[in-house]
Amino acid sequence: MKILIVNDDGIYSPGILALAEVAAAFGEVKLLAPNMEQSSMSHAITSSRPLSYIRTPVKDFEAYRVNGTPADCTALGIFLWPETDIVLSGINLGLNIGNAMWHSGTLAAAKQASLMGYRAIALSTEITEDFDIEKQKPFVHRSLDMLLKEDMELVNVNFPNSPQGFLWCKQSLRHYDGVMVPGEDPRGRKHYWFTVEPIEEVEEGTDRWAIEHNQVSITPLRLDLTNYEELEGIKQKDIHW
Ligand code: MN
Repeated sequence: MKILIVNDDGIYSPGILALAEVAAAFGEVKLLAPNMEQSSMSHAITSSRPLSYIRTPVKDFEAYRVNGTPADCTALGIFLWPETDIVLSGINLGLNIGNAMWHSGTLAAAKQASLMGYRAIALSTEITEDFDIEKQKPFVHRSLDMLLKEDMELVNVNFPNSPQGFLWCKQSLRHYDGVMVPGEDPRGRKHYWFTVEPIEEVEEGTDRWAIEHNQVSITPLRLDLTNYEELEGIKQKDIHW
């Protein structure tokens, strides 16, 4: 199996190395990742200038850093290695659950693979004070062992700090609180932090619920954003244009 590994934290992230080390048990691994952190870049692509890549040592893995976005890395990787069987994105240092999935570069890199007709899995982990990526590896291995065998298009996997099991779940949609927090820089100029925090009780069976219950959340995704319920409803109405 030929595995392309991308991320949004950059080629030097311990997350991409951990994923490569685990994925190497399942096939031939190549790494192509941004040359600097591109978290929360979502599905941005670089269309106004050319992309290039430089070979970069990441232990013994064949690895390259790219002057582009996470989605760029996937598109370029698939162009360079069209024989790729699956694209893995991560392991992101930080969860990508609920509405944060809209902002995630990790997920966008996986979505890009899906757009191009390739299977993809996004993997992200909770970060706490006592975080140890080595501890997550057996769970990453078990996730890949199961998911690589299944014919699923696009999957989002999130690891709690101390996983105790696995749960199939849906995306949590209830809790979005994207707020601007004003502050001041050392020269007295105003600046703003854009933060996203959950604001409501978690709903059982969602990714956020899984993480809060120390379960690895696994959510199959699709690219189709159509709201079929509203589409059908509006088509029934006699609307004059
Ligand atoms: Mn990131």
